[in-house]
Amino acid sequence: MFTPRLGLETLKAYSVEESNWRIRLDANERPADLPPAVKAKILEKLAALPFNRYPELSAQSLKTTIGTDFGLAAANVVIGNGSSEILEAVCYAFGGAGRSIVYPSPSFSMYGIYAKLADSRPVPVELTADYTVDADKLLAAARENAAGIILLCNPNNPTGTVMPPEQVEYIVKSTQSLVVVDEAYHEFYGKSSVNLLNKYTNLAIARTFSKAYGLAAARAGYLLADEAIVRTIGKVLLPYNVNALTLTAAETVFGMRGAFADSLAENRRERERLTAVLSAVPGITVYPSQTNFLLIKSEQAAVLADRLSARGIGIRDFSKVPGLLGCIRITVGTPAENDAVLEAVSL
Ligand SMILES: *Cc1c(COP(=O)(O)O)cnc(C)c1O
Repeated sequence: MFTPRLGLETLKAYSVEESNWRIRLDANERPADLPPAVKAKILEKLAALPFNRYPELSAQSLKTTIGTDFGLAAANVVIGNGSSEILEAVCYAFGGAGRSIVYPSPSFSMYGIYAKLADSRPVPVELTADYTVDADKLLAAARENAAGIILLCNPNNPTGTVMPPEQVEYIVKSTQSLVVVDEAYHEFYGKSSVNLLNKYTNLAIARTFSKAYGLAAARAGYLLADEAIVRTIGKVLLPYNVNALTLTAAETVFGMRGAFADSLAENRRERERLTAVLSAVPGITVYPSQTNFLLIKSEQAAVLADRLSARGIGIRDFSKVPGLLGCIRITVGTPAENDAVLEAVSL
């Protein structure tokens, strides 16, 4: 008689509603496919790729490209199938039985799942009423719970709120735990904690190609950290974890990052337009966002979600989730998509 591993039966798998939305504003993706020149370059490189060969064992070439760009070495870089795979690996490598993993809440729902998969105890620490981080409360929780890892999401998903870099530094220098900053949305914020890597060896920064760089289909992410951290994470990742097609796409996108500047500027303009118009709707609170999405609170949240859904617009409905009661999250789309949202909301 076989049964699932201890603890697995009560673990809830990540789940999102997948429908055939006409307008998809539920997953914080880039609203358009890659800039044509970038896509053409990827396809050209894929045409020349020998599909019969395993990829480079440890993605050395992409690690060198990324490391060099940050003034770091390839030995400071982890490459993964999305930053998701890397964050999970960090939990396996620095979590484990008898330790906890501390993170602010509400935040990315996967953190608790990664902690449990690694046999660590998840310790969510509530954000303040305006969804900002209370650093001392977080540090106290890390001390009291023997935290292997403190996971920060900056800017935070799904609230869109940010921690100023000084607050991140205060946390890093006040703890012996490994501090991982998930910077999935940093391109929209413009600020990063990468420069702290030269000063602290208990810090790691995770980045993704899935959001600003429009490569969600390929699954690619990276992490920057001290060599010793990178070596340890390497022990729990499978050899050849990232396939050659994804490595090719990620390397091309990284090299052509400038081609995304216009889209980032448009995202900012559209975010501000949505914020201004939605804030003026009676009964709606819009949280200040430094990302490509907005968190909105309204007593009518469920009605709003239904109305958007009826028009083929997909959003994330958190209205029944503890800590996010009455909230929905809307990804900033193209100007036309945002117009459709505004039209539906102001009915
Ligand atoms: C989207 C997202 C990720 C990871 O995405 P990948 O596609 O796995 O790189 C990580 N953290 C947060 C907060 C996200 O929103």
